Amino acid sequence: MEETAIIIVAAGRGTRAGGVPKQWRMLGGQTVLARTVAAFQGFGRIIVVVSPDDMARAVEEFQGRVTLIAGGESRADSVRNALESVDGEQISQVLIHDGARPFVSRALVGRVLAALSDAPAAAPALPLTDALWTGSDGRVGGIRNRDGLFRAQTPQGFRFGAIRDAHRAHPGGAADDVEVALSADLDVAIVEGEEDNIKITWPDDFARAERMLGGKMDIRTGNGFDVHAFTEGDHVILCGIRVPHGRGLLGHSDADVGMHALTDAIYGALAEGDIGRHFPPSDAQWKGAASHIFLTHAADLARSRGYRVTNADVTLICERPKIGPHAIDMAKELSRIMDVDPDRISVKATTSEQLGFTGREEGIAALATVTLVKS
Ligand code: MG
Repeated sequence: MEETAIIIVAAGRGTRAGGVPKQWRMLGGQTVLARTVAAFQGFGRIIVVVSPDDMARAVEEFQGRVTLIAGGESRADSVRNALESVDGEQISQVLIHDGARPFVSRALVGRVLAALSDAPAAAPALPLTDALWTGSDGRVGGIRNRDGLFRAQTPQGFRFGAIRDAHRAHPGGAADDVEVALSADLDVAIVEGEEDNIKITWPDDFARAERMLGGKMDIRTGNGFDVHAFTEGDHVILCGIRVPHGRGLLGHSDADVGMHALTDAIYGALAEGDIGRHFPPSDAQWKGAASHIFLTHAADLARSRGYRVTNADVTLICERPKIGPHAIDMAKELSRIMDVDPDRISVKATTSEQLGFTGREEGIAALATVTLVKS
C-alpha cells in the first residue's frame, strides 16, 4: 500500500485579499485553511506549513490533528522544510497543495493519486479558453497563441524521493513544485483540473467563495408538536423553566411540552424520527427524566452530522399559566442547552380563545420549528 503525505503550504503572510492573511480568514464559519485541511482528510498524513508568526494560532486550530511545520522565507523553502521532516522510509508519495485552495474535490485528489501510479509526477491543470493578449499602457499589443497552454493548479503529486531530491538540487525561485520537478527532468502528467478549485487571493475571490459555499449549503427545516395533560400539582416545567401553577403536567418524563416539541423538530429536520425512537417510553430509565437530556442529544446529533441550529421558534398554547413573564428566560435556557446564540431562539405563547382542550385548560400544547444549516 502506498503511504501518502499531504503538504499544505500556508506560510504566506500575503494580505492581498485584505487584512488577515487569506488562509486564516473565515469562510462560512471556518477558516479557509481548516476547509483546505478537511478536503484531504483520509488521503494520508497531513502536514501543514505555517508562518512561525501563526504557529500558536495553528496549534489551537488543529489540536494535534495535523503535523505543523514552520515555514521558511519563500514558498520553496517552506515546501523543503516539510519534505525534510518526512521519513522517506514510510512515505512513498507526496501531494503538495496551496492552503488557499479550499474547494479541491475528493475526485480531483483521486485523479492526481491515480496518475502517480504511471508517472513520477502529476498535477491538475485547465486548458486556457480565453484569448491571450500582450498589452501595455492600457492598449493591446498583440495576440499570443493559446494552444498547448494550461492554468496550473494544486495538489501537485510526486514520488517522494524524486521531489525531495529535486528540491535539494534546485537553486530556488520556482513558481511551483512542477517547475522544480521539471528542472530534475521528471515526467509530469497533466490531470484534469476544476474551475471551482480556485486559489483565494483577491478580495473578490472571497465573494466568489461565499457564493460557491451558498450553492453547496444544505438547509433543513423541522417541525415538532406535543401535548401534555394537566394533573395534580403546583408547578409546570416549560422550556426548562419551573413555572408555579395550580396544576402540574402529566407525562412519562418531566412533561416539558415545549422542549419536547423543539427536540422533535430537530429530529424531524434530520429525518431521525422523534423522541420516542431515541428514548423509548417503555424504558424505565427515562421515567421522570429531565427533558434537557433529550434536547442535548438532538442538538449533538445535528452537530455530529455537520449541521448547526440557525434558529428555533417555539409556541406554547395555553390559557394559563401566563408565559409572557418567563419567555425570555425560557429562550435563554434553550439556547444554553443547544449552545446557540440567544438571539436565534424564540419562545412565544398564545391562548386558543377558550376553545378546545387547551381552552378548557385540560392541557398544554406546543409547536416548534427549527432550521439546520450545513455549509
Ligand atoms: Mg411529550
